[in-house]
Amino acid sequence: FVLHYQPKVQLPTENIIGVEALVRWLHPKEGLLGPNMFIDIVEQSMFVHEFTRYVLLQAIIQCRSWLDNGIEVSIAVNISPYNLMDPELVDSLSTQLKFYDVPAALIEIELTESASMVNIKKTQEVFSQLKKLGVKLSIDDFGTGMSSLAYIKQLDVDYIKIDRSFITDVATDTRDEAVITSLLVLCQKLKKSTIAEGVETIEQANKLMSLGCNLAQGYLYSKPLPVEEVTKLLSKK
Ligand code: C2E
Ligand code: CA
Ligand code: CA
Repeated sequence: FVLHYQPKVQLPTENIIGVEALVRWLHPKEGLLGPNMFIDIVEQSMFVHEFTRYVLLQAIIQCRSWLDNGIEVSIAVNISPYNLMDPELVDSLSTQLKFYDVPAALIEIELTESASMVNIKKTQEVFSQLKKLGVKLSIDDFGTGMSSLAYIKQLDVDYIKIDRSFITDVATDTRDEAVITSLLVLCQKLKKSTIAEGVETIEQANKLMSLGCNLAQGYLYSKPLPVEEVTKLLSKK
């Protein structure tokens, strides 16, 4: 398994404020496979905890290596809902952060909205332990789950990532614009930052900025890149 990294940028400067680690499988015969080809199998296997701890460890090692080269950038890691049941997740993360002397605030954990709702109590419990450690928390794919808006206030997270499905037509569909506008106001009042996912066009970016969204991620800025290529981008910062 190797990690590719996709930048998250500030608008309108397009300065990189962090990267998201996205796993790929270097398959001996099939070549590089995206997570949709294998993540379900991993999640249903006994290795799901080990897998996520491995991804987190790789992210921490990468953070250390970047810090050694004068690059300070946060790395977001996706976790599975099953990982909330891993009794060693928080301790192992804490141990690795100390071992590699990486500030916890440089690691971010992303959990999808739907996953966070499976067992709200458990999510809150693990999130509060992670928060104590100092890592940042994000709710991923927001808007695709079945949670009520009242639910966001119960989650002590730093970022809300607005799902790509709302971004696709934001420049042309006033209904998407309305949904995003109300989400932005809500998040602002609750003091959470919002990140627009899957921004592909200038038109989408301009519309998002006009609505007050100033963090974005998507092919318009960069695809997920192998470590050498993303390091080049980060060195230019
Ligand atoms: P995600 O967390 O929502 O990640 C964003 C996905 O959208 C990535 O796909 C990314 O390549 C893609 N994307 C980014 N910008 C654009 C854009 O402008 N347009 C379009 N069409 N797509 C864009 P990817 O890398 O195939 O990952 C798919 C999903 O696999 C991720 O969705 C995440 O849920 C999961 N995943 C990835 N890495 C991990 C991991 O280490 N652990 C776990 N548990 N899940 C992972
Ligand atoms: Ca994600
Ligand atoms: Ca997402």
